[in-house]
Amino acid sequence: MEVDADIHEDFVVGCPDRPIQTSDSENSDDELSETFSLSDSISNWAINFGISLVALTALLCILRSCHPDLPKDARTLLKTKTKYSILERAGGQYHYFGILTSIRNVLSKYVHTLADGFSLKLQINIDGLPLFKSSSLQLWPILGLLLSVPMKEPVVIGLFCGPKKPSSAKEFLGDFVTELQQLEKGFDIEGKSLKLELDTVICDSPARSFVKNTKNHNGYHGCDKCRQPGKYINGRMTYPYTDYALRTDDSFENMVDESHHHDGPHPFHGSSVGMVSQFPLDYMHLVCLGVVRRLLSIWLRGPLNFRLPANIVDRMSAKLVEMRSYIPVEFARKPRSLRELDRWKATELRQFLLYTGPVVLSTFLDQNMYSNFMLLFSGIAILLKMFHLIEFLINKTVAVVPQKWCSDGVVYWPNYRNDERVNRAVKNSEDPGLTGKHMMSELLNHVMTTLRLVDS
Ligand SMILES: [Zn+2]
Repeated sequence: MEVDADIHEDFVVGCPDRPIQTSDSENSDDELSETFSLSDSISNWAINFGISLVALTALLCILRSCHPDLPKDARTLLKTKTKYSILERAGGQYHYFGILTSIRNVLSKYVHTLADGFSLKLQINIDGLPLFKSSSLQLWPILGLLLSVPMKEPVVIGLFCGPKKPSSAKEFLGDFVTELQQLEKGFDIEGKSLKLELDTVICDSPARSFVKNTKNHNGYHGCDKCRQPGKYINGRMTYPYTDYALRTDDSFENMVDESHHHDGPHPFHGSSVGMVSQFPLDYMHLVCLGVVRRLLSIWLRGPLNFRLPANIVDRMSAKLVEMRSYIPVEFARKPRSLRELDRWKATELRQFLLYTGPVVLSTFLDQNMYSNFMLLFSGIAILLKMFHLIEFLINKTVAVVPQKWCSDGVVYWPNYRNDERVNRAVKNSEDPGLTGKHMMSELLNHVMTTLRLVDS
């Protein structure tokens, strides 16, 4: 079906097709490039601030008196494609922009820095998002980000729109996988032969099981990483064991654990994508929006034996709010009251887990609850490599130290007399100081080691 985009003006301003440039806009003529950079800046500005096409066209009219090279119409400036081929697919409407078409613009900026035969790494994200509160219409974009070049914003590779999620992952991802298979073999761009391989597929748990055509994360045989069947306890599915056989790309491909898969081949069948190794667990949903939010909501309104008294919650909130003026600009948000927990974003929950929580909670929680929180903090901090778990070669003792204390098998250990002072230096990631000792050590940041540490 062909749709005239002129009638969808609101959609067109943020048009995902925007990054595609025609070859004439790459002209290096000085005068043209000056105009190009102005029109480029204006179009970026219009997209970033959601300026309507009508307003942008009016602005262009004013600017054209000084810059006659600027186009008259916003759609020309935004290089809006006016015809899209929209297909009926997987129970909704679907348009495939294409991997190469979407990344061509970014790639052409950096292609001269890449060696012939270079293999680009592409990360993709798949998730559904509701369009309106009053209807079930939802968008399912396939977003892509090149990891091999400095690319800040992801591009849209495919876009599905329908009343519910795509009815078949295979249909939804068909075009993508076909193009991926071609690009894996190699392609030419501006005189260079390059290859492209899929690096990782980032999804939340429901989207991941949809894309992999496997059982849901909350069903039996739903664990992505190991083959334990799961145990149903107190109305929820749990995976309590840590010693079951791990899933591997091969065992997945050969469907060794049949109960893990839904019928039929997975959508990436035939490409070189590792269906276990290239689908990492997603820390934002699992830890920040998952465990941390759950923990906080249990403290606030859970069973009475774990619930914190209202006055403690208020004092903790006051402490968090007090910290606002000490939060550096590197953080996207400043702490706010626990009473607004339902509106906390993932980044605020992360800030609480890793930075403000360990400080605020020590005065308010009892020892057991604080230790429980600090085990989560330590485990995640190690996995995030904020801290290293090291073993001293001299006496085989183990310690957790800030990342910056370690370098090439050497730990810089501060010269403090008592352990308490050292602990404080570790906790606050202080510099070990010039008078510190240099000690040979080995990094033990293996995930299993971390799990055992947290377990014990
Ligand atoms: Zn598991």
